[in-house]
Amino acid sequence: MQAEGPLSVADYMHECLFHPQWGYYNTRSPIGAAGDFITAPEISQMFGEMIGAWLQDLWQRLDQPRKVNLVELGPGQGTLMQDLLRSIGPNFKKALSVHMLEISPVLQNQQQDRLQSETVVWHPDLEHTLAACQDAPLFIVANEFFDALPVHQMIKQGQDWVEQRIDWCNQENCFRFTQDLSKVTSDAVFETCPMAQDIMQKLSQKIVQLEGAMLVIDYGYQDGSTGATLQAVSKHKYHDPLLHIGKVDLTAHVDFKTLVEVAGTQGAQTWGPTSQGDFLYKLGIRLRAQQLQRKASSRQRAELEQSLHRLICPTQMGTLFKVLAVTAPNTPIPSGFS
Ligand code: SAH
Repeated sequence: MQAEGPLSVADYMHECLFHPQWGYYNTRSPIGAAGDFITAPEISQMFGEMIGAWLQDLWQRLDQPRKVNLVELGPGQGTLMQDLLRSIGPNFKKALSVHMLEISPVLQNQQQDRLQSETVVWHPDLEHTLAACQDAPLFIVANEFFDALPVHQMIKQGQDWVEQRIDWCNQENCFRFTQDLSKVTSDAVFETCPMAQDIMQKLSQKIVQLEGAMLVIDYGYQDGSTGATLQAVSKHKYHDPLLHIGKVDLTAHVDFKTLVEVAGTQGAQTWGPTSQGDFLYKLGIRLRAQQLQRKASSRQRAELEQSLHRLICPTQMGTLFKVLAVTAPNTPIPSGFS
């Protein structure tokens, strides 16, 4: 930074998260009650089970192709995949070749531990992933993956949009935004995520070419609204994104409107985004909870009720989290999106 000048927000985010030696994802295991944040698959096994049910339903409606490449983007601790694979029918399971795209060696180790009994191939980047998935329809799942991709921030100054940058301040010994974010009204900030667009473009192109579908679940906005959403989280609390770098998680809200547009340019069909609460409810999560509760102790019954609440209630993850499906054209309406 001293040699080359201030970084874009995207470069800063990338370094904080993925620096080989100091990066957040390379040095720790961030997910879970003891970590920094908790995700839907870590809240309840029902989440992965519902995703499994969604994929199996689609597979059946595509006339049960003999082989499907199932790709998970950013699988965290591997919990979603474990719950998904345990809950699907044997014929669907037999058809699946499982691939995981994971950048963090720490998390890849955890995934390998958790999925020891399954056949899974890991890939370090999208190019390797796609090269290995040319021979069959493609099913892709991405839960809280797109929010980890680096965003650029543009700020309105007079008539111009200028890029927000982050610089090191020698006098005060800290990182600083080069434009003062507190002085701009929030809709004068515009975020873009070229990496998310690039990934969506390549994956929807493949889905159109090979058949299949992608499910993107993340917190985000769908009205093209602007504003700064870059945020830092550590131990389940918000922090200043310019402090404790490499020790806090940095994310930005996902711009679903742009993802839908990008998928459209490839001729893919999109469904939603709908709210996570609505999606899970329509897939029958309440019935699944009741089924699990029948065999549970009273403490487990209460826990199940509580996790159901966290996943679908509008004041919890139910509304903030959105679900977007991308399919090849002429695919029947996927479940959860009526
Ligand atoms: N899906 C998991 C984890 C979400 S955290 C869950 O729901 O619990 C984000 C995940 O994406 C982590 O596994 C992180 O290492 C991975 N990730 C982030 N950026 C990535 C990139 N550019 N390439 C591959 N994996 C990435």
